[in-house]
Amino acid sequence: MRYPDSSHIKPRFISVDVEVTNFCSNGCAMCPREAIKRPAGVMTGDIFRELIHFLGESRCLLTFSGMGDPLANPMLPEFIRMARSAGHETGAVVHPASFLSHRGGMERLLECPPHSITVSFPSVQPTVFERLCPVITFESALNQVMTLREKVAGRSRIRVSGILTRLNMDEKNEFRAFWKKYDFPCWVTPCHSRGGNLANYELLMETQDRGLAKGFCSLFMFHTFIAWNGDILACCHDLDGSTSLGTVPELLTFRHLLTIKERMASIRPCPSFKLCSRCDEPLRNISLPMLPETGSPEARHRFFQKLAAASKRSK
Ligand code: SF4
Ligand code: SF4
Repeated sequence: MRYPDSSHIKPRFISVDVEVTNFCSNGCAMCPREAIKRPAGVMTGDIFRELIHFLGESRCLLTFSGMGDPLANPMLPEFIRMARSAGHETGAVVHPASFLSHRGGMERLLECPPHSITVSFPSVQPTVFERLCPVITFESALNQVMTLREKVAGRSRIRVSGILTRLNMDEKNEFRAFWKKYDFPCWVTPCHSRGGNLANYELLMETQDRGLAKGFCSLFMFHTFIAWNGDILACCHDLDGSTSLGTVPELLTFRHLLTIKERMASIRPCPSFKLCSRCDEPLRNISLPMLPETGSPEARHRFFQKLAAASKRSK
């Protein structure tokens, strides 16, 4: 297959998702957690220290996220503190149900608040919300978001993310208007199959497209995923560890990882894991703005702004 010329695209180390655990008891209907074959566990302080060493002077955007509940790791506040002290911008993705399932979880998250907190709030239609998130009512979840804002008191940026499924395919404008009313930045994206791993396929809106249109995955070029045990995977859709690029202790610094990614990117399609052939992640084919060099938060912000604009255009 011939791809458009993209020889100028070189991987960069701009953002990293860190899965501090892959445990979660929230039971969301759109979660493929049942299919996880990777070992289950919780990131230790030793692995996180190795990770900070690995990230070195990259000053990347480090988001506590992944195939689990970050609040289920009691060391989260310490990890945020260490990442901030090392000069990284930090973010966390949380579910409102986690604030109820972990007593004091909200306070713990805010001991050393990350720069940004993204709240997963799939839908603003109560029946849809409760179908997708069976462990918490819509009303209670909304209360948690409002309490969070009160307790954050301006120390973190709070954003809300939603998804479009077959149950709420026309909700985009309603979702935006709802959060605008409460003055929360938000976005809503189509539910995808997480690399073909979604158990609940009837939630997908339509037959999703497959394949890498440009011969490379845009997400892979600027984003890295690190599992709780230090394994570096192509992305969070990898549930069996088959896309491992190495481990944090073994690779020593992010520059070694970049060398591996650059070598992979010289051959198209990139990456060519079996998982990628089943993937329908919208970000994989997004038009990639000029990739900034690492180390400058301003350049990174400009990059993410352009990426968000490209994402809106592609919907
Ligand atoms: S909160 Fe996240 S990891 Fe937990 S069940 Fe829901 S989607 Fe899955
Ligand atoms: S193509 Fe899909 S599965 Fe492969 S690295 Fe990109 S997002 Fe992950």
